[in-house]
Amino acid sequence: MDIQCECGQFHARLKAFPRNTPGRLVCYCDDCQAYLHHLKRNDLLDAHGGTEVIPAYPADIEILSGREHLKCTRLSPKGAFRFSVSCCNSPIVGLRPGMPWASFPRSAYPVDEQQLDQTLGPVRSRVMGRYAQGTPPAGTADKLNLKAVMTVLPFMLKGVLLKKSRPSPFFAEDGLTPIVMPQIVNDAPRQGV
Ligand SMILES: [Zn+2]
Ligand SMILES: [Zn+2]
Repeated sequence: MDIQCECGQFHARLKAFPRNTPGRLVCYCDDCQAYLHHLKRNDLLDAHGGTEVIPAYPADIEILSGREHLKCTRLSPKGAFRFSVSCCNSPIVGLRPGMPWASFPRSAYPVDEQQLDQTLGPVRSRVMGRYAQGTPPAGTADKLNLKAVMTVLPFMLKGVLLKKSRPSPFFAEDGLTPIVMPQIVNDAPRQGV
């Protein structure tokens, strides 16, 4: 499966997809919303402020081109490392060192809805609905619920057992240092808080 920015200059590939993904998830949290506002890409949020993500393992990612366009943003000194590209201002991925989890936004997958439906089926869980704009779809967890945890638990456990958090192409060999210096921002408006 390919990963691309909007203009196509950044290009990566996911090995072992769709095997190694927990599927389509939607997060309505204030950080995800604040981040897209910061990038001035709120056009990528859904009608309720949600971001659809399709996670993969860091060790399954191979960057093919456009590495020089990567920027790294953190919303706080302890926040996730959120990578985007300067060529077309597209969000690419969110990660934390040591976690077998790389959150790719739906927009980074250059496939149409039909292909996605055929490969992964419908959205499997919606979380952090307390920060949603208006009323999110029925079944959205207020924060996290057991169903949401159970949706991703097998993926997380397998990732820990198989040590899929590294090597990550977004971190140096130590697994801790991001390949571009992160910029810490807290200018983004928090909505729905
Ligand atoms: Zn681009
Ligand atoms: Zn979120």
